[in-house]
Amino acid sequence: MINLDNFSSYFVANWKLNGNFKFIDDYIEQLKLPEDETKCIVICPTSIHLEYMRHRNNNFYLGAQNVSQHLKGPFTGEISCNSLRELNIDFCIVGHSERRQNFKETNEDVNLKSNELIKNNIVPIICIGETLKDKESGKTNDTLARQLEEGVPDSSNGKNTIIAYEPVWAIGSGLTPTFEEIDKTHDFIKNHNSKFSHYKIIYGGSVKANNAKEITSLSNVNGALIGGASLMVDEFTMIIQD
Ligand code: PEP
Repeated sequence: MINLDNFSSYFVANWKLNGNFKFIDDYIEQLKLPEDETKCIVICPTSIHLEYMRHRNNNFYLGAQNVSQHLKGPFTGEISCNSLRELNIDFCIVGHSERRQNFKETNEDVNLKSNELIKNNIVPIICIGETLKDKESGKTNDTLARQLEEGVPDSSNGKNTIIAYEPVWAIGSGLTPTFEEIDKTHDFIKNHNSKFSHYKIIYGGSVKANNAKEITSLSNVNGALIGGASLMVDEFTMIIQD
């Protein structure tokens, strides 16, 4: 497994269901990686493009956006950890709110998937976050606590797992919590259980070139998970170079 302690920060591009071969060729040609090699840059294209990107890879890491908790069998359409391992994939997003909402993924699914990834030396990037309803009813910390307790497997630790705090209402909306709120919530996660005090915790939700530096400089924030802005190579380059 990749040694997470070799890095000072993590920038994860979640391309979601976007991109094609031409897009990838252009993107890789134009992407300028930071000289600072302690910044860990991870790009998560669709699964179908992972192998193509691996052959064009120049010093960034690859991540999948999802994986099955099953290793083989009658699970039509699924992709296993073994298959990701065969492609030398180092990271995998798990429990993104779009998967929780659209595909009814539960904390238990997140737990099983993350456990299989860890067994296969792939770092799960476990997404947690409150909905707007949770936030408005003052239940943010309760939701996060449940997602942490039920979704993070016993095999997980700060060396093999990244946690991504992504308020659901901030994803793709152009809205973000205040910097103070982000830092406070990351502090809550780190202190929820002594186990989490050494975890790398990244923030996701409408990160752009004009707010990335301030967000990732917060003392409890170790990087960012970037959706929409990561599809624009100039914008993503600014985020990772800053
Ligand atoms: C995401 O999809 O994880 C995400 C954070 O999206 P966006 O940056 O577009 O809000």
